Amino acid sequence: MTQTLDRIRASLVGLRMPCALEALDHTMRQLERGEIGALEAIDALLAEEHATRETRRIGVSLKTARLTPPKTLESFDFTFQPSLDRGRIMALAQLDFVARAEVVHFLGPPGTGKSHLATALGVAAVKAGRRVYRATLAELIEALGRAEREGRLIEKIRFLGRSSLLIVDEIGYLPITPGGANLFFQLVNARYEKGAMILTSNRGFAEWGEVFGDPVVATALLDRLLHHAVVVQIEGASYRLRAHTDLIPEHTRSHAAITPPPPPKRRGRPPKIGAAHA
Ligand code: ADP
Ligand code: MG
Repeated sequence: MTQTLDRIRASLVGLRMPCALEALDHTMRQLERGEIGALEAIDALLAEEHATRETRRIGVSLKTARLTPPKTLESFDFTFQPSLDRGRIMALAQLDFVARAEVVHFLGPPGTGKSHLATALGVAAVKAGRRVYRATLAELIEALGRAEREGRLIEKIRFLGRSSLLIVDEIGYLPITPGGANLFFQLVNARYEKGAMILTSNRGFAEWGEVFGDPVVATALLDRLLHHAVVVQIEGASYRLRAHTDLIPEHTRSHAAITPPPPPKRRGRPPKIGAAHA
């Protein structure tokens, strides 16, 4: 008995299972008292170790994915944003769009929860074991530009292509540096039909020519980014300013016009724009 226990301890140390090792004595006492059976004892030890490792894995992955501070769908107040279909967001959280390498667009004025929802879906994907990476468009273009100057653009695009979900936040807020649109296009093209993306923007698709400073590249970008796409438009008030609605001018308060997507000019398979995959 003692010999066996010593061997189990040695095995747990060798296998680097400190949590199971720590739980061993308690589990043995429960076993001796007849509170649990052998099967439950094994289950308890393994579950203890597994839970700790999962928590650690998720924590590390959220940091490398740059999903900080992490957000959840549970903490999202859907009653504050009535234009948003909760069922549709919950369906997205099933992550079929990730497996299908589709593109999800969150469009809406500032403060309407676009980054929150994108991050929450990213967190769900990390928990499901997917590799995720989040950056603002400005950060991405900066990183791609630096990689290009250092002669490792292909490497960088390959790195960004490895994640099953790439979240590109804040399209439309900052002006794009010359050549930036082209770099972003190369990234989008590399991921096209291979990896899923979530994009957030305060600007309608009709304004992308202006956003990217290049109508030709903008059209080519939209061609890829609207092909297998889900467009979620949020029309509502800013959650950030919810306590100060009296201070916000009426015309900027809500229903900021986001132009609906132009029909992409593409032969072949029709796009699934706005199709509720719910
Ligand atoms: P956007 O990206 O659309 O500008 P954010 O997602 O960054 O807006 O939201 C701004 C802040 O308000 C964040 O801290 C976010 O967590 C919070 N927030 C926004 N909408 C909601 C909501 N409906 N319920 C709870 N928190 C929200
Ligand atoms: Mg945002």
